[in-house]
Amino acid sequence: MDNKLNILVIDDDDVDRMSVRRFLKTAGFKLAITEASDGKQGLEILKESAFDCAFLDYFLPDSNGLEILKAARADGIETPIIMLTGHGDVRLAVEMMQAGATDYLPKGEMSAENLSHSLNHAIKVYKLEQERAEAIAELTESNKRIVNILESISDAFFALDEKGCTTYINQQAERILQANRDALLGNNLVENLPSIASWFKEAMEKALIEKASVSCEGEYELLSIWLEVQIYPGNDGISVYFRDITKRKKSEEYLSHLANYDALTDLPNRVLLMDRLTQALTRAPWHKRSVAVLFCDLDRFKIINDTLGHNVGDHLLKTIASRFQESIRAGDTVSRLGGDEFVILLTDLAKPEDVGKITQKIIDRISDPLMLEGHEVFVTASIGISIFPDDGGDPNVLLKQADVAMYCAKDKGKNNYQMYSPELEAQTADRLTLESALRRSFERDELRVHYQPQIDIQTNIIIGVEALVRWEHPERGMISPADFLPIAEETGLIATIDEWVLKTACEQNVQWRKLGLPPIRVAVNLSDQIFHKNNLVKLVRKILTETNLAADGLELELTEAVVMSDVEHSLKILNQLREMGIQLAIDDFGTGYSSLGYLKHYPIHTVKIDRSFVNDITTDSNDAAIVEAIIAMSHKLKLNVLAEGVETDEQQNYLIKSECDFMQGFLFSRPLAADDFTELLKGQSNKR
Ligand code: C2E
Ligand code: MG
Ligand code: MG
Repeated sequence: MDNKLNILVIDDDDVDRMSVRRFLKTAGFKLAITEASDGKQGLEILKESAFDCAFLDYFLPDSNGLEILKAARADGIETPIIMLTGHGDVRLAVEMMQAGATDYLPKGEMSAENLSHSLNHAIKVYKLEQERAEAIAELTESNKRIVNILESISDAFFALDEKGCTTYINQQAERILQANRDALLGNNLVENLPSIASWFKEAMEKALIEKASVSCEGEYELLSIWLEVQIYPGNDGISVYFRDITKRKKSEEYLSHLANYDALTDLPNRVLLMDRLTQALTRAPWHKRSVAVLFCDLDRFKIINDTLGHNVGDHLLKTIASRFQESIRAGDTVSRLGGDEFVILLTDLAKPEDVGKITQKIIDRISDPLMLEGHEVFVTASIGISIFPDDGGDPNVLLKQADVAMYCAKDKGKNNYQMYSPELEAQTADRLTLESALRRSFERDELRVHYQPQIDIQTNIIIGVEALVRWEHPERGMISPADFLPIAEETGLIATIDEWVLKTACEQNVQWRKLGLPPIRVAVNLSDQIFHKNNLVKLVRKILTETNLAADGLELELTEAVVMSDVEHSLKILNQLREMGIQLAIDDFGTGYSSLGYLKHYPIHTVKIDRSFVNDITTDSNDAAIVEAIIAMSHKLKLNVLAEGVETDEQQNYLIKSECDFMQGFLFSRPLAADDFTELLKGQSNKR
């Protein structure tokens, strides 16, 4: 590498030029010296080649050195230039330095030492100058890079000075804030961005005043977005980074909705219910209020779901969910625990004694008929109620108590409500033991069928018999169906029981016929669950074939609730059974929907008036009127009428007068074991 210094000496005086050369050599510099003897030539050479330094004489023949200096600088030449002057004029020195001289040296003071010092100084200054220039260039470059980065990062960014004026704002920030960069730059950001959220404003003020970093997030309501913000203080203001987290917030909201709401009905689920219950229990004492927990379970939902399919079942649950919601006040909660279990929370109850009324209203609303994909369906609900503070203050306990009370409502015949009381707990425990015993009753052969005669009301002749199931419990003795059928229904065992009773009763009737006794019909009760089983008709046909009983020897008893729950489906099955030659009766008439109007649509033979009306027929004129109306209407529709639960002669006489056809009741006979009934029937045939 050539490390010689490239020097230009512009001087008209040969001796002076020589002196410069000599002194610099003496000082030890390795040099390549170019010489010019006038200003014009010197300027040309300066323009053409690069020098490490130039010595420029002030007194030149064609012009003065100051002009050449100015011309060179004006031309962008940055070479260090040391002015050589004849004398040390301070004013001139200042003028030369201002014009861009690197240094100046009076010719009288020229020495190896001075020249070398001056040259070294000039080169050093030049180098520093160059480095500074390079640094500035580099800084501009890196500023550009920073700006590029700020523009391309996904974060939005702006910077404010100490007064809150915008010094920079990137595209993202402009876009998210729907702001205009030109309007903001140099101006107070908050004042020029009216849409800014107050929490955002406060965070920036805090960072500016406290010179502390702040991070926060919040909703930007005017723009319907969520922002996450990070603010860092700097020497002269703050840098604000933020990003649009609306998507994340939405998915967080969605997830929290999933965790707290039931997917099918969009009602609060158990998690949210317990949360609200806990809150309600904390608040209630302050306002001297009660809270009621209503545990609601739909009756017969499983049957609808199984017969009409899950789509209809889902549709039903949604409809019921909105009925529940319609029945309560805005501050109360309807939640779905799963399946057909709903829990209603009545908070803020001023008078806890009102709960009964409210609950009855809910029950009535639920039982309004509803159309589901062309099917008219009736649904009812059983509801158990626990009350804070009467029944305790623990959310889980209250829910449990309401559940216990709900089971009690089911046992009491469904479509009603029960309030919790500690005695119910014992019943529940009892129920659980019974439930497992009932499951084993089949294997242990503990079920029996008893038979109660049905007689012609005028002649007292037995025309039929009703088969009634009994459970002969090894310790408890004979248990009545009222006590175990609700459990059998809950557990689904009922269909199996019915099938067994049907078969047993048919076999028994064949036995009686084989004994040569007068032929009678055996009436068998069918539960909801067996009636809505897909293969009922097939099952009945199979049993008739297996037992060899003629179809006219069998009557099937169905309640209004059973045949009205899905009218279309029921009609189809009833018609098929009737075509087979089987008799059909509507049991417990008057207790359910009591719709005489509906009767004419059903292919039935007999209406059985419920015992509760017969009971008071001679004392209650209302009941008497109802019974007479049922009889008249049924006869008009060419249906037979049987009165249930006839216990007295007065009742029988009244019924005879009202032209009732048949009766059944303790007056004539209690339900009897098969052998006892055989004797009764034999006695009757002997009398005839
Ligand atoms: P139900 O079909 O209405 O049967 C008549 C009920 O009235 C029988 O009660 C019978 O014992 C009772 N009863 C008859 N005459 C009188 C009377 O003069 N006074 C009083 N107080 N009661 C009388 P039970 O046997 O306790 O049966 C109750 C209910 O259980 C039946 O009412 C029926 O709905 C159901 N049930 C009985 N056996 C079966 C069965 O095998 N399957 C199904 N699904 N249900 C059955
Ligand atoms: Mg019956
Ligand atoms: Mg009955």
